[in-house]
Amino acid sequence: MRLPPTETVSGFACLACAQLEPPETERLTCPSCGANLDVLYDYERIARRIDPDRLRAERDPSIWRYRALLPLRESSGPPPLLVGGRPLLRAPRLGEALGMKRVFLHDDTGNPTASFKDRASLVAALRGREIGTDTVSCASTGNAASSLAGVAAALGMRAVIFVPEKAPLPKLTQILLYGARVFRVRGTYDDAFDLCLAASERFGWYTRSTGVNPFTAEGKKTAAFEIAESLEWKSPDLVFVPTGDGNILGGVGKGFQEMRRLGWIDRVPRMIAVQAEGASPLATAWRTGSDAVEPVAPRTIADSIAVGRPRDAHRALRMLRETEGDVVVVPDEAILEAMRELPSTTGLFAEPSAAASLAGLRKMLAEGRIDPGETIVLLITGSGLKDTATAARLTAEPPLVEPRLEDLERALSREKGDR
Ligand SMILES: *Cc1c(COP(=O)(O)O)cnc(C)c1O
Ligand SMILES: [Zn+2]
Repeated sequence: MRLPPTETVSGFACLACAQLEPPETERLTCPSCGANLDVLYDYERIARRIDPDRLRAERDPSIWRYRALLPLRESSGPPPLLVGGRPLLRAPRLGEALGMKRVFLHDDTGNPTASFKDRASLVAALRGREIGTDTVSCASTGNAASSLAGVAAALGMRAVIFVPEKAPLPKLTQILLYGARVFRVRGTYDDAFDLCLAASERFGWYTRSTGVNPFTAEGKKTAAFEIAESLEWKSPDLVFVPTGDGNILGGVGKGFQEMRRLGWIDRVPRMIAVQAEGASPLATAWRTGSDAVEPVAPRTIADSIAVGRPRDAHRALRMLRETEGDVVVVPDEAILEAMRELPSTTGLFAEPSAAASLAGLRKMLAEGRIDPGETIVLLITGSGLKDTATAARLTAEPPLVEPRLEDLERALSREKGDR
């Protein structure tokens, strides 16, 4: 017999057909239609356990400080890795360049495996451990995989990973050194996803793959809590979310909705999905007002959002509707430009998908779709060290000098001459 994960989870609701599942279900997806599930809670119980005053006194800086809002048992923590606790940074120089006063960066590059995905992997893996599994699996463009591999290593679980054949080398290297079993799948992320799902069913692995596992979005919502807590329980106006499957968008939006429901904030920000031009099926669905997403063959340098068949479209589209959000589509050239602008004005080095947040903001500003007086948060979802090959394309080889001052002086005057 399996126990409900906590006293506060009251069940699950299908995101497509609204069918309800009891809290003790072992199913990850809807038994009627196969769509993804949303975790439901008893918010009255939650309100008795956590509030802004109690959070002020809470000394754990990690996502575990919000455990009363997570679908986990108290006895599952504290976790052995410090996930979350990431700062909201004011970006005055970037704001100046954009002509905006209130631009903030939520920096997830400093998570243990260097991406936002640690929030989701930790919650999903802890849930897997609660129900007695020792092997977790996932398909991933790279970050969810390296994250799950790292978390599994910390928790002493086995990880089986499926990545597309073109996953960036730094991500693949991380996964291997964390000790996971890795399969590179010929094809794209979408192919790796289907194989992982079939294999997990066959071999009884607990899959963390994005969308099908309802607990990843629960981990991801902790970023919203951090943002609101940093702003002293004021909501920003817009939150920019680089979007592939749509799970971050759905999760972070849910975090804000929960805080409003608990009375911690008075409104939910507009969630803005940023998609790469060559992988923008959610943008098309949003424009046409349809939940039936037309798959595409993904083509973009932003590998973490190179998703042709978004696996969490219902969750994402619903969140866009509920928050009066929007979708902005950016070409790879704009992402590359943002990869240059972000580090040189803020000190944050972001992978292409994370820099896409800034490209999306620039585009909406240029099109007059936002007011420069608004408070903006850009989610910076992954470190630039995750894909150094793409970053290196933006740089030239620096001059080589002899270890002598005269030589350096000559080189310096040559550089001046260049300008
Ligand atoms: C996974 C990921 C995203 C996109 O998240 P989805 O839930 O697939 O929309 C964005 N940026 C980075 C760095 C990621 O790893
Ligand atoms: Zn259903």
